[in-house]
Amino acid sequence: MSGVAEVESGPFRFVVQLHAARQLHYDFRLEIGGALVSWAVPKGPSLRPADKRLATRVDDHALLYGDFEGILPVGSYGAGRVIVWDNGSYAPVPEPKGSPPVLEREAAARLIEQQLAEGQVKVELYGHKMRGRWALVYTKGRMGPNGWLLIKDRDAHSREESGPPGDDRSVLSGRTLNELTP
Ligand code: MN
Repeated sequence: MSGVAEVESGPFRFVVQLHAARQLHYDFRLEIGGALVSWAVPKGPSLRPADKRLATRVDDHALLYGDFEGILPVGSYGAGRVIVWDNGSYAPVPEPKGSPPVLEREAAARLIEQQLAEGQVKVELYGHKMRGRWALVYTKGRMGPNGWLLIKDRDAHSREESGPPGDDRSVLSGRTLNELTP
């Protein structure tokens, strides 16, 4: 190895909450413009680059919501159990392919807002479970008006087996959804 230290954090937060609402799904959220821009991913992220996971854009959430786990009461929006399945920081990655992530905060903010508007989000994730390069690609209406795809880029963190990385426990508390108590 060269003596250059590997970068281990980006300028903005990301969080993935596992949410047992009417249907179990993963809520993938990126800090963009002071809010958590969010996608619901029914099958969850997969480490296999050939898997293109449907990710439906949902309402932005407040940054503070990214620390929430517990039970949303019956009758409230998204009623059901929530754990913080993964969190960490991220940096947007510019074109062309193979470019380093943008770590400087103002430049990163401009780039991620541009990528979101263009429907081509490319990020380096520095989480406990989700790491390396990931893409979110807008499907231009083919999967519904809010349909995007979450795709793992091929890199040192990708795998040929489908499925989410790591276990089904909270990175905050170590609890599973079933271990939450009211
Ligand atoms: Mn949800």
